[in-house]
Amino acid sequence: MQAKILLKRKLRRFRNKYYYNPIFGWSIVVILIIFTISLFDLLLLPHINLNGNKIIFLEFKNNYKELGYKASYQGNDITNNVKVKGQVNSNKLGTYKIIYKVKTKYFIRKATRYIFVKDMTPPKIKIDNKSIYVCPNKKLVPKKIQVIDNYDGDISKNLKYKLKKDSITYYISDSNGNKTTLKKKIIYKDKYPPKIILNGDENIFLSVGEPYNEQGYNVKDNCDDKPKVIINGKVDINKPGKYNIKYTAFDKSKNKSTIIRHVIVSSINKPGVIYLTFDDGPHEGTTNIILDILKEEGVHATFFVTSNGPDYLIKREYSEGHSIGLHTSSHNYSIIYSSTENFYKDLAIVNKRVKNITGKEFHIIRFPGGSSNTVSKKYSPGIMSTLTKDVVNKGYKYFDWNINSQDAEWGKHTSEEIKNNVINSLRKDKANIVLMHDIKPYTRDALRDIIKISKEQGYTFDVLTIDSAMVCQKVNN
Ligand code: ZN
Repeated sequence: MQAKILLKRKLRRFRNKYYYNPIFGWSIVVILIIFTISLFDLLLLPHINLNGNKIIFLEFKNNYKELGYKASYQGNDITNNVKVKGQVNSNKLGTYKIIYKVKTKYFIRKATRYIFVKDMTPPKIKIDNKSIYVCPNKKLVPKKIQVIDNYDGDISKNLKYKLKKDSITYYISDSNGNKTTLKKKIIYKDKYPPKIILNGDENIFLSVGEPYNEQGYNVKDNCDDKPKVIINGKVDINKPGKYNIKYTAFDKSKNKSTIIRHVIVSSINKPGVIYLTFDDGPHEGTTNIILDILKEEGVHATFFVTSNGPDYLIKREYSEGHSIGLHTSSHNYSIIYSSTENFYKDLAIVNKRVKNITGKEFHIIRFPGGSSNTVSKKYSPGIMSTLTKDVVNKGYKYFDWNINSQDAEWGKHTSEEIKNNVINSLRKDKANIVLMHDIKPYTRDALRDIIKISKEQGYTFDVLTIDSAMVCQKVNN
């Protein structure tokens, strides 16, 4: 009984405190209204949900990509009914609105996305080096440094710096307030060796007996006004060969650089002498006959061989006292003149072949088409200018010709023509370097007459070797 009375009292107190209190009453009303509206919204209005944020900060010039949206009405997907309005021009700073709208029979629903196109990227100071090197006992003179901003463009002229003894700090701000600072350590050290530039050519060609005159050099260093240069190497002008003159330069910080000049002493290609040269072989049916004729006539020639023909013919050429030169393996212009790298790759193949057959390495070459060819331009402009210098640096000599038998040219030839082309061009006052091809039957058939007539006219024969003076036409590519 006692408990019942207590409960009744409690209830009465609660009623007196809240039920008659107007604030409590209004609260209930508000809750009911919210509940009703929510229910109305849920059941009767369409809904749009935007994927991603409703407020987007987009970097200047970056593409705006729609993040997508979903619309529903009473549990059904009505995304396809949404109409989207508004465009973002990211090339112009500003605020852009995208409005998404969906309609049902009685109601319209809208959602808005705000895109703020802003320049938020700081300018870029273009220094690659980790540290800045300054000559010992000198002060840093800041160089012009490029600064590129995505919005302002080139703002190099606005770059400022603070110079301390062991560091330099660059700072810059773009027109939209994006800031970049860049601190670089200053190291007092001479990092770069002196630079030697030779006076005169890097390759000097002399005939036996011709004096070698040192043409000197120029030397420059970033820190040292007078770097020291030592020249090493001797030239024996009486002995054909390749001699290296080595120039070594030191600066005060002991940085070193070297450069080499090649002095190539060659024997003289003798006037009144015929140097018969045969290209493109060997070839069964022609080379073997040519070798027979040369043997019978007691004449030696020079064969610029390829990967053609059987090995035994190269063996014969070598063992019968002829000189062997390299004419590349493939003789294919599109391969050998596509790059210097491909030229040497191809040359190495024929070099290896000849070495396997004869046991010797040969360093005289003839460029397919000659050094004056223009066909190489099609595959690599300037390659002949590079190769003609570079082969010499690598220890080769190349030989063109000054008499063309014209046996390689298009059209039909007779052995009579080939013979006349050679005989009519011979001269007593020069070395006669004759271009022929041992793969041609009319050359084979003209050879005996050429030798016989030349002999009658008082000419002698010799071969080209690594000691011979190079025979060079004008380079046209
Ligand atoms: Zn050839």
